[in-house]
Amino acid sequence: MATHSANLSERFQQAWGSQPRLFQAPGRVNLIGEHTDYNDGFVLPAAIQLQTRIAAGPAPGRQLFVKSATYPDDAVFDLDDTNPLPRKHWSDYVRGVALFLEREGLTLKGARLLIESDIPPGAGLSSSAALEVATAWALLSDSGLHMELSKIAQVCHRAENEFVGVRSGIMDQFASCYGRRDHALLLDCRSLEMRYVPVPHNAAMMVCNTMVRHELGSSEYNSRRRQCEQGMAVLSRFLPDIRALRDVSAAQLARFSAELDPLIHRRCRHVIEENRRVLTGAQALEHCDLVSFGALMMESHQSLRLDYEVSSPELDLMCELALGVEGVYGARMVGGGFGGCALALADQSAIETFVPTVMEEYRRRTGIACEIYQCSAADGAGPIGG
Ligand code: ADP
Ligand code: MG
Repeated sequence: MATHSANLSERFQQAWGSQPRLFQAPGRVNLIGEHTDYNDGFVLPAAIQLQTRIAAGPAPGRQLFVKSATYPDDAVFDLDDTNPLPRKHWSDYVRGVALFLEREGLTLKGARLLIESDIPPGAGLSSSAALEVATAWALLSDSGLHMELSKIAQVCHRAENEFVGVRSGIMDQFASCYGRRDHALLLDCRSLEMRYVPVPHNAAMMVCNTMVRHELGSSEYNSRRRQCEQGMAVLSRFLPDIRALRDVSAAQLARFSAELDPLIHRRCRHVIEENRRVLTGAQALEHCDLVSFGALMMESHQSLRLDYEVSSPELDLMCELALGVEGVYGARMVGGGFGGCALALADQSAIETFVPTVMEEYRRRTGIACEIYQCSAADGAGPIGG
């Protein structure tokens, strides 16, 4: 990372002639717990070493100057405009964070931000949350302000949901803020309580990008959320105390299954079982039991494929190929579905064969050159170099 930061610093100086301060926020991969977040459930993400870095320096007045090393079109904002509209531009993430920081009652100073990232965007590793969280760190520091980490995560989450207009859970921002080297984070999406869970040293997180994203992703995501609400509407007639699917046990679901449309029943079953898998999985990791954890990952994948119906042929193939490599404990699709990445948990000893085998076989079967990122659990966001 040291050379990255030096280059970023230099580029900032070339552009704006002053010495910047540097901040980073990591991407994340979710080990288990898919489509549980918006049902008030549990997730188990880890921050990863792929990160977004921002070089930041002051600007006169209340102007915000923003450049990305990877995206075209710089942007300029006036922080005194208290009712900005999104421009459908990457800089909306930055503007949204600034807006919601100020809505917390803070007054930011003008700033210049130069952004770079090694997180592949749109692959499900949460380059968006990394951008938001790095922006929050840069703007707060530049203004000499402090905010608690959980508040930063919530502000960034609001920026993405309410300003950029992407409906997503809070997991991404939490993982980017609270990541810890060699640990995953068991997060209760209702109370936002969390517990660190060690990721055993012999496990490598291999993130395999199918390089395919099917268009129906976002409409199907919204439809799954609606279906969960429909399930809740029926179940709460019989179980008046429940507030979300997270409150329903497998036994209760079985008891009232005849009341539910079969499709809604399957959707609910995925969420309820997936919550159980997250909690059991966290315990398995705590006992260094990668075999049990791997088995839960495979159950999760099958449930996402058959009950929740959000997998894709490419994701299924990627998991099948990963599982064919000796030393792989488990594999599953990650993220909303319909494309993006699969995650395989592999023994360190399997890495050398894993990459060429999966890449070659995936290319042979699909004609597509996939990308594989070997990830390790990393620390959360903060200043670079003290
Ligand atoms: P994911 O979070 O899974 O990577 P999203 O679609 O949520 O995918 O977020 C990707 C978007 O975030 C990009 O299209 C872009 O608008 C913004 N973004 C991410 N990284 C950068 C960057 N380095 N510079 C500018 N914009 C970025
Ligand atoms: Mg995102």
